[in-house]
Amino acid sequence: MPPTNRAAPGCAAGRLRATEFTKIPIRHVRTDFVQWFGDRHDGAMETAVTAKGGVVVEAGYYFGDDKGKNIVDVSSQAGCPNKCVFCDLGKEKFVRNLTKEEIIDQVRLVLLLAGGYGFDLDNTKHKIDFGKTGEPLLNGAIVPAVEKLAELSFSYKLCTTFPDSRMAYENFRALARFASRHSEPFQPQISLVSTSEAYRRRVIGTNIASFDQLRASAEQWANQNPEGRRINLSIILSEDTPCDVRDVYGTLPPELFNMRIRKYVATAHGRQNGLHTADDARIRRIQESFREKGYSVRDEAMPTAVELRFGLASNVTRRRYIGMIDGKG
Ligand code: SF4
Repeated sequence: MPPTNRAAPGCAAGRLRATEFTKIPIRHVRTDFVQWFGDRHDGAMETAVTAKGGVVVEAGYYFGDDKGKNIVDVSSQAGCPNKCVFCDLGKEKFVRNLTKEEIIDQVRLVLLLAGGYGFDLDNTKHKIDFGKTGEPLLNGAIVPAVEKLAELSFSYKLCTTFPDSRMAYENFRALARFASRHSEPFQPQISLVSTSEAYRRRVIGTNIASFDQLRASAEQWANQNPEGRRINLSIILSEDTPCDVRDVYGTLPPELFNMRIRKYVATAHGRQNGLHTADDARIRRIQESFREKGYSVRDEAMPTAVELRFGLASNVTRRRYIGMIDGKG
């Protein structure tokens, strides 16, 4: 039985309806691999998306009783300049930035698949998440794509490691300006990885912003968006991740940042790098220590049962797909 969804307001007056958006032909990406997991109470769709030159990225649709909005999750780059040890891109080389049209077509493709599966697109609240393959702040097409997608009355989330590069700072400033004008919330989320700067640099593997630089960017964000969302700091906690609120409280304070502490979902690449899933007691203890210091810590950051059962971490479905078509699946 196709999933139905909780009732939610449709799009704002004058905005493009999601069903109208899906009628525009998809010209820049395609897929021949779509998998649905779980059911309407806790479910996901993930797809391997092919773009010009045969590059393969990942996109997805996430829904369930614990989610306030259904999430359309898309990629920004083919490959990634970062080399996060927990990511299933592994040591694959960075290929290129996706174009604005390729980013927008992924949103269209995911919505089309969701509509075909029975979701009432126009009466379901949606959030677009730039959280799949790639580092969105390093792609100059991300701001034009976000601005174009504002025709839909969707909210946004952008996940970044925050590279220490001029492009990243410029994109972030432009997104702050966009967020101050957009009618729906815009949630930036920085992969903090750990409260240890040294560990963070080692795990991400490229030149990333220091904690001082993150604070400066958060102050700019807050000045531009006094009524907007505070930035999330995300830690995907494995058993060995250094995580102590005292390391960050002075530099990355709760007035500027929320904490999102998520259980590490084991991936093949993470296992090769010796990462082990943290036990629930440690996660709860750490979440509580941040709450005691005044941080907002959201429980919904935890992976769902379906995500854990099927190992749905970023880029896992893409790797499975490549394994199958290469005859290694
Ligand atoms: S987790 Fe994200 S930023 Fe890190 S290597 Fe993978 S795609 Fe890139």
